Amino acid sequence: MNFKEIVQPSSLEEACKVLANHHKAVIIGGGVFLRLQKREAELGIDLSRLSLSYIKEDEKVFHIGSMTTLRDVETSGNLPRCLVESVRQIGGVGLRNMVTVGGSVCGRYPFSDINTALLSLGARLIFSNKGEISLEQFLDENYILNDILTSIVVPKAEYSTCRYFKHTYTDFSLVNLSVASGDNIRIAVGARPGRAILVSDINTGHTAEELLAHIEFKDDIRGSGAYRRHIAEVMLSEVLEEGLLWK
Ligand SMILES: Cc1cc2nc3c(=O)[nH]c(=O)nc-3n(C[C@H](O)[C@H](O)[C@H](O)COP(=O)(O)OP(=O)(O)OC[C@H]3O[C@@H](n4cnc5c(N)ncnc54)[C@H](O)[C@@H]3O)c2cc1C
Repeated sequence: MNFKEIVQPSSLEEACKVLANHHKAVIIGGGVFLRLQKREAELGIDLSRLSLSYIKEDEKVFHIGSMTTLRDVETSGNLPRCLVESVRQIGGVGLRNMVTVGGSVCGRYPFSDINTALLSLGARLIFSNKGEISLEQFLDENYILNDILTSIVVPKAEYSTCRYFKHTYTDFSLVNLSVASGDNIRIAVGARPGRAILVSDINTGHTAEELLAHIEFKDDIRGSGAYRRHIAEVMLSEVLEEGLLWK
């Protein structure tokens, strides 16, 4: 992507003002995925001077700043296991040092591993204008994003884990799955190929096949829906056999 001009606001208020005056401005997180796009934009708003790179925690939740890199998530040491597992296999360390959590969430990529993990954890997003919305709602909607994601609120989980299936280490997931339990149990499935969604009606007596029965898996050039369904069922069976999701 080529920008005619890039601004680097030094406060969130300034960044919001620029965005309000330039509705077509492009927000730049790590800039890694934007770089791959072949288009021109009049204005880019670089968020790197807004101090949005942090991981904080209180008794019940973590607060992750939108400019926190995937490498920071990977090395934080205390974030939920499924989140750490979902990022540590994305590209190489160099990529994870540049890519941001905010860019990953806002890109709403159908192949995303991190969004599947965040969805299973019941993450909530804090935008500068719209305020707080659930990740579930954000992934479900198709509105054009004209707002700055400032942070992600991630509830603590008692147990969580994720699974993904890739042909090679640096490939995109053919299908992925993440589970978390705490106040309630959540199972998210992503790269179906399509944005991550939650399994509704979780019945602890059900098998993996039964739990995934209403999830839609589709064909694309990389694999069929039936193949994806089968892999997801195997991955979820593995998790259930561990016996830690529900006891
Ligand atoms: C080679 C390669 C391999 C990858 N492999 C995987 C993989 O296996 N699994 C996986 O899950 N992901 C993968 N990714 C995607 C990666 O993890 C990131 O999701 C992606 O690069 C976007 O992050 P970024 O910081 O570069 O965002 P950017 O490129 O800066 O932005 C992405 C989008 O989000 C918007 N945006 C960014 N930050 C904000 C904000 N704070 N508020 C509002 N809008 C914002 C931008 O305007 C843009 O539309 C891969 C990417 C690359 C380049």
